[in-house]
Amino acid sequence: MKLIILFVIIAAIVLLVLLYSLLSRRRHSNVVSLHKKKKLKDANGQTCSRCKKLQPLTFYANDAGIVRGLCKECKRTAEKHEELYPV
Ligand SMILES: [Zn+2]
Repeated sequence: MKLIILFVIIAAIVLLVLLYSLLSRRRHSNVVSLHKKKKLKDANGQTCSRCKKLQPLTFYANDAGIVRGLCKECKRTAEKHEELYPV
């Protein structure tokens, strides 16, 4: 009789460990997928400070020290009005 109780306890512990490892693995995969999403967003570039289009940007600071990410076209336009310093 004692053996059966011991067996049940061990089985319960094994089940709990399995359940926990399954849950933690699922949580881990969530972290990975979020990381992938972030990488994808980075690869697509950020939106331009001027035209708000999703394009590869270069960051510039003006005389006032304000840093903006500008696409090539907007950089050309902005250059005419103010001095831009690459960051
Ligand atoms: Zn732009």
